[in-house]
Amino acid sequence: MADGDGAFTYAEGRVEPGETRNLRYAISETYLGDPVRLPVTIRNGAEPGPTVFLSAAIHGDELNGIEVVRTVAQDWPDANLHGTLVCLPVLNVPGFIAQQRYLPVYDRDLNRSFPGSETGTSADRMAVRLYEEFIEPCDYGLDFHTSTRGRTNMLHVRADMDDPDIARLARAFGSNVIIDGAGPTGSLRGAACDGGTPTITVEMGQAHRFERGFIDRALDGVASVLAEYDCHPAEPVRWPGWRTVVSRDQKTWLRADAGGLVEMLHDRGELVREGDVVCTITNPFKTETVRVTAPFDGLLVGVLENPVVYPGNPLCHLVELDEPTIRAYERAREGTLPERP
Ligand SMILES: [Zn+2]
Repeated sequence: MADGDGAFTYAEGRVEPGETRNLRYAISETYLGDPVRLPVTIRNGAEPGPTVFLSAAIHGDELNGIEVVRTVAQDWPDANLHGTLVCLPVLNVPGFIAQQRYLPVYDRDLNRSFPGSETGTSADRMAVRLYEEFIEPCDYGLDFHTSTRGRTNMLHVRADMDDPDIARLARAFGSNVIIDGAGPTGSLRGAACDGGTPTITVEMGQAHRFERGFIDRALDGVASVLAEYDCHPAEPVRWPGWRTVVSRDQKTWLRADAGGLVEMLHDRGELVREGDVVCTITNPFKTETVRVTAPFDGLLVGVLENPVVYPGNPLCHLVELDEPTIRAYERAREGTLPERP
């Protein structure tokens, strides 16, 4: 927690103002009785300010965020940091080691186990320890994800925009797309927001990869958030050029109505018009083709990467854009968008 004297304290010690500490925090035990240790970097700035957590790989195969959190923790200059950064590059250590989404123990989703419990399942016990030590003491939080294996996302933020403190954080990150909604029950974001730590999820790219373009844009987003809260008072808050806040009824998953092999005709982040063919599904002989069309004008936030589907499998995640936003999107692509609306 942030102490009155500016130190960050946790069960095993304290980090003084102006100090950065890398630690391995014992959060569980393996079948062999060895500690499962969470890598944590605490960067306590010389000047007072808010405490912000940055976390990644709560789904163990979602790697892009690890590089974002690690870069902030290790490579950013210390000078002029007001407040404390709690950097958690790999939350789901057993899943990360196995390179899979869920905890290997009974395939539990660590991101449905918060705020956790001292007497619950192994997932609950890990969740409560990391929640109480490193999430609850924070004033704000950013949790980094990628798409589920086999799909890919454009960079976007998910946030409960009904809460003004969370909305401020979401806007400060400076993404084009914010998908509005509370975090699911048991998620880190949901529990943190319920517990008084406004938190957003950042989604970008695919599992099992470092994607440099996304990582750099996310680092710009972190810098912008830190500027918003005067952790880096000299830095500017980022304006993404255009922005849309997507409500529950402005988005849909297009799902396959036939099993088969998919040819995706558009990339993540592309605009499609109502009636455009988004992808085709064919049988092995190419004798039957199903054309999947866009039901409205919108942006492809997420698309399939692995080109095989059963009926009912998701093909792409489409969000509705209104005409002014479409015009701004097109002008941004042409490079003719003014600096600020
Ligand atoms: Zn995830």
